Amino acid sequence: MSRKTFYIETLGCQMNKADSEKISGILENLGYEETLSPQESSLLIMNTCSIRAMSENKAYSYLGVWKKLKQKNPGLKIAMCGCVAQQTEEKIFTRAPHVDLIFGTQNICELPFLLERLQSEEKVCSILKTPVNPDNGSIPNRKEGISAWLPVIEGCDYFCTYCIVPYTRGRQRSRMPEDIIKEAEQIASEGFKEIILLGQTVDSYGNDIDNPDINLANLLKELNKTDKILRIRFVTSHPADITDELIYSVRDLDKVCEYFHIPMQSGSTEVLKRMRRPYSRENYLDLIRKIQKEMPDVGLTSDFIAGFPGETEAQFEETLSILDEVTFDHCNTAAYSPRKQTPAAVWKDQVSYDEKKRRLNVLNKKVREVVKKSQQKYAGRTLEVLAEGFREKDRQIILTGRTRNNKIVHFPGDKNQVATLVDVNIKDISTWSLIGEKV
Ligand code: SF4
Repeated sequence: MSRKTFYIETLGCQMNKADSEKISGILENLGYEETLSPQESSLLIMNTCSIRAMSENKAYSYLGVWKKLKQKNPGLKIAMCGCVAQQTEEKIFTRAPHVDLIFGTQNICELPFLLERLQSEEKVCSILKTPVNPDNGSIPNRKEGISAWLPVIEGCDYFCTYCIVPYTRGRQRSRMPEDIIKEAEQIASEGFKEIILLGQTVDSYGNDIDNPDINLANLLKELNKTDKILRIRFVTSHPADITDELIYSVRDLDKVCEYFHIPMQSGSTEVLKRMRRPYSRENYLDLIRKIQKEMPDVGLTSDFIAGFPGETEAQFEETLSILDEVTFDHCNTAAYSPRKQTPAAVWKDQVSYDEKKRRLNVLNKKVREVVKKSQQKYAGRTLEVLAEGFREKDRQIILTGRTRNNKIVHFPGDKNQVATLVDVNIKDISTWSLIGEKV
């Protein structure tokens, strides 16, 4: 019997990466072996992202390459899953007829049955519209490393006018704390040192459960007790859901890192209203000030969209001016990309492609300046770094790791320091990283 092998290409956010780990776990249970290249595999899986047109196009361009592999090897099976699959369903077969299997974000557990069906049916498409319980028994196959992702909440209830996530991932569903704690202990026993809690709006954790004690602040308190875990982080925060209690937990719990990723999306209150983001420019700034008051060295990152429909030049300038008020450690930026099914996609006042591109370039330039500025305050200071890996340069071992507030640091050291906490004195800075020496 020929070897059953698989390869997964994962596009998009950490939630997709966590889903790919679940898919990998299911396939290994079925006797498949994971390979490092599509050429060696009998099953190829494209885990897609539909947050922007660019990401969707990337999936189809990979599929174009895979088509050639299938022409050489007709027995090869190609599957497409993730948010594009959830949204586009069997129409994918028309655009990419060489795809054999399509399954949605809620059908991962069904994979063994879908593969069985594929033995007798030419094409299989299964898209469940009702969101499933995130605790569905699938065991993720995590790759070796320092950090492990741990999804705690799936879906989203916010329905921002530009975002496809509530349509592709369903409404918010929180996992029960006992299941999360058990999984954290499993992660620790596998040798991981850091846990990153995941959710599209991770700080909404528990809002959908009828028990006020189930919230992110209390979950962090419980997870802080996990033996052998050195650090805990969480992403992505929604500005409207960060409570004082959560801020105090991050400040006080020794394993929880002082770091928040809080997408603002626009610096203009008017644009925020049109985006259906339930906060104003002032609310957001008040929140940042509150967090910085409790943790002066907190790491802060954000997301911004340039050229949202109807955004005027003055409103775009308001986004730029936020970067004068807050010294973010990093910002993800994107030109607005209309997504089918979302309200903003059909609004008449779309900003032209060229203008969106221009605003994005201006924004990116400003972000680079701010990020570099954010590094400066660390020159000469000693910071605790969790060493994550190393490379050899001029016969020297250079370790790379992160500070508690998520700054990347490079420093000379020993291979056996990987996966340990090292105190590093910062000697030099660049735009994206710090360079230091161990103390
Ligand atoms: S809160 Fe985030 S995930 Fe939810 S709809 Fe808005 S942008 Fe999308």
